[in-house]
Amino acid sequence: MLGKKDPRQETSRVARFFSHALPFVAFTFGTWLSLRGTHTREIIRPESHPNIVDLTNPASPDLGESLEQTSVPWPRLNPTARIDRAWLLADGPERRDGAPGVVTLTFDDGPFPETTPYVLKSLKKYDMHATFFLIGKYLAGSDDRCVKSRETARQILAEGHLIGNHSYDHARLGGLEEADALDEIDRSARAITKTLGSAPRLFRPPYGSLTPSLEEALAARNQELVLWNIEVGDMTRDDPDRMFEELRAQIIYNKGGIVLLHDIRWSSVLAFKKLAEWLDSHRFDRDHPERGGYDVVDLGEYLRRTAMDPPKASGRAELERARAEAFKANDEKKRHRAAEVVLPLVPQDDSVASPASEGASLFGHEVGHVVGHEG
Ligand SMILES: [Zn+2]
Repeated sequence: MLGKKDPRQETSRVARFFSHALPFVAFTFGTWLSLRGTHTREIIRPESHPNIVDLTNPASPDLGESLEQTSVPWPRLNPTARIDRAWLLADGPERRDGAPGVVTLTFDDGPFPETTPYVLKSLKKYDMHATFFLIGKYLAGSDDRCVKSRETARQILAEGHLIGNHSYDHARLGGLEEADALDEIDRSARAITKTLGSAPRLFRPPYGSLTPSLEEALAARNQELVLWNIEVGDMTRDDPDRMFEELRAQIIYNKGGIVLLHDIRWSSVLAFKKLAEWLDSHRFDRDHPERGGYDVVDLGEYLRRTAMDPPKASGRAELERARAEAFKANDEKKRHRAAEVVLPLVPQDDSVASPASEGASLFGHEVGHVVGHEG
């Protein structure tokens, strides 16, 4: 008997072992599980980002308003969101001889999964950063296209570009009932917030259309109103080469500015590809300021430079008069110099310094009409 172990004792020893080991096993397994879980949390994915909401699930909570208003990395030059001031500020910093022209790039009416990535490609190729003003309804649905559009919006952000709100359905806000116009602004802001996890702080009204009470509403929402001054009506055109030439001429005439294009049209994608290449080859070289040229900056930097050297003009009309006079004077100076110098036989290239003929003929008087057309 002594030798033989009591099976009941044996079972109780095994049972005791397990009763002691089990919690340990459970703990280890649990930790492994949670560690595995934690690891996934490090990779930012929509499904794991606290503020990004799965819009394919209609029951998703509405959190637009609940998000804290974060501070913005640019000076607030127009905290009252006045449209006349926004037109003035669109022109950027005061022009100085020997200083770079400052250009910032903006794209409206997207995102379009078919075309927007090609604009992003050109931007990446020339190391430029832009601002995209998005249409909320493209982000708000649960169909495949909306899913793809949300992915495109996240790609825009991931590649270091800024995102702004361009209303929910591209309505002419100034022509709507106040409540409908506010709904256009807020629904779009919510769709962008749910897609990106952060609320937009830049707003561009379609067609540049607002009312004084909508200005107040945008100011109350801490929105920076962003308009433009370089635009060629690309929404209704299919001539990328000509559009590029006109964009170039306007940039030369204005010596910089806020470029507006639409990343939802192939002809605009192609026109931008040419413009990005041209801007890249005409960057301002601080070792050779006499060559002129441009700094292509993002909107935050554009606003910072404008704050550092604000335009002297009190309004858009005064600014355009001053611009036309400066251009004419500059043009005459060049013609004068040209008359003095024996012109070489070979044709000149269209370097920054001398767009005289093209600029003057196209834009001496037209610029005023362009602004306010469409956006
Ligand atoms: Zn638009």
